Amino acid sequence: MAEKKEFKAESKRLLDLMINSIYTHKEIFLRELISNASDAIDKYYYYALQNHQDPGDLAINIQLDVENRLLTIQDDGIGMDKEELEENLGTIAKSGSLAFKEELAKKEKGESDVDIIGQFGVGFYAAFMVAKEVKVISKKAGSDEAYEWVSDGANGYTIEPAIKEGHGTTVILSLKEDDDTERYSQYLDSNQISDLVKKYSDFIRYPIKMDVEVERMIESTKDQEVPEYETVKENKTLNSMVPLWKRPKSEITKEEFDQFYKEHFYDYSDPMKTIFFNVEGNVSFTALLYIPSHVPTGFYSQDYKPGLQLYSRGVFIMDHCEELLPDYLRFVKGLVDSQDLSLNISREMLQQNHQLRIIRNRIEKKVLNELSSMLVKDRKEYETFWKNFGLDLKFGVYNNFGQDKDKLENLLLFNSTKDGQLTTLSEYVDRMKEDQKPIYYVTGSSLELMEKLPIVKKLESKGFEVLLFNAEVDEFVVQTLMEYREHSFQNASQGDLDLDSEEEKKELEEKTQSNQSLLDFMKETLKGEVEDVRLSSRLVDDPVTLVAGNGMSFEMEKVYAALSA
Ligand code: ADP
Ligand code: MG
Repeated sequence: MAEKKEFKAESKRLLDLMINSIYTHKEIFLRELISNASDAIDKYYYYALQNHQDPGDLAINIQLDVENRLLTIQDDGIGMDKEELEENLGTIAKSGSLAFKEELAKKEKGESDVDIIGQFGVGFYAAFMVAKEVKVISKKAGSDEAYEWVSDGANGYTIEPAIKEGHGTTVILSLKEDDDTERYSQYLDSNQISDLVKKYSDFIRYPIKMDVEVERMIESTKDQEVPEYETVKENKTLNSMVPLWKRPKSEITKEEFDQFYKEHFYDYSDPMKTIFFNVEGNVSFTALLYIPSHVPTGFYSQDYKPGLQLYSRGVFIMDHCEELLPDYLRFVKGLVDSQDLSLNISREMLQQNHQLRIIRNRIEKKVLNELSSMLVKDRKEYETFWKNFGLDLKFGVYNNFGQDKDKLENLLLFNSTKDGQLTTLSEYVDRMKEDQKPIYYVTGSSLELMEKLPIVKKLESKGFEVLLFNAEVDEFVVQTLMEYREHSFQNASQGDLDLDSEEEKKELEEKTQSNQSLLDFMKETLKGEVEDVRLSSRLVDDPVTLVAGNGMSFEMEKVYAALSA
């Protein structure tokens, strides 16, 4: 007798949710199981090619056993060994799990009303919404041992040796009666299952086959006045098998693009932007890219995995291929399919791969173009984008010794004294007074405080606009840029800005002379704290101000102090 094992705690929570689900779209369980089967076949296909074997015809088969209330989904995929059955099915779904768990926690606290089951790939456990028992029989490719995993959800699971012909996995659901109407079970109805496959899994790249009943004319009766028909079973492929990105762009709806995004990249909201393009040339490829509409869960944690999915002629090669995106675009999700890549490409070879570099450059250019055009055409949308991912673009400016700065300088937004709005550098320069030489900025932790700085008021009173840097990276950014349209950047809190007319200068000099003894006294008293004490024309309403000498600004000093701490 096999030993009974408990699910891990968080899996149990999710299972409870599934088992007791009164969710109206329980039907998505089929989508989840088919997508697992398809992933497993992808992996097998890749495995076979790497081992110089012919993968053969690979398929997903669905069987309905009305009498015993069983729904079976069988795949010719990679299969799972004993440890994998335990690890993969005993623990909460992995790929989408982090985001899902956080959303689930929010939902339990009543902080979220996102339709988590419908929007996330909740994975394998979705089976428990419709099944009272789930049996998984699996044999890993290359092994000759098969195992059977059985669970009713609530009471843990068992694993024991089993017998199975080829590699792959068979999932057998013993259906609950909850969803039945009198004498009718929708998940045992072949028409219903056909419709669900069409609805959710049409572009799965392997055939999804099922026996369906068709009416066929009895050959011998064809000359009769009224020919007779019989009901026969015919094994049919239910899906059209064309992946979304292989279809002509004009035939794909926004809903399809959005749905694909949510399912493949585990998001609960529609993307902000979809970028879909083909390149023909030395290296031909199709890219389907998405800019998320919010900062992805865990984006700033170490668990976040950037990169795109990589396919070669529709065959999945790998997830999170980082070589396809520059670091500063790590928020972009999506996939690339190229016929010019070898299937045998390994992680190590990626970095040197010439084709990949070409693809990456094209993608970079395309995304930056899209952002530029968003900036021009839809400022509001761009500012939302900027709020989410602006920090990454700033990072891109000074990262890698500033090699990408020219590509990015026109996409940057900064806070400014001009109407409290965000501004581009180009807008700032367009508004400059004729005699203005540098672009002025100040740094500080809050916008209000910066706006109140004496030097800011002074500059404004003279008709100059000042950029307000409230992020530590801002100053690094302009120091990397060095200049913009031939204007240098000047920290207004630093050094002498030479703003006064000859007359004003003379007046200041006279005042200084008549107050020399006071200034000397103050300097003596503050010895070691300040370098000099001067009368200033920087002040409009305030009595004193501290000014950094030339060299490092106060903010930069803080950054360095933090770095070396
Ligand atoms: P996800 O697909 O998001 O990883 P699931 O809960 O759907 O999460 O599946 C969990 C894991 O179980 C998968 O990552 C995979 O490793 C394994 N698995 C599920 N179904 C199959 C299958 N039919 N063949 C092989 N492995 C499978
Ligand atoms: Mg899955």
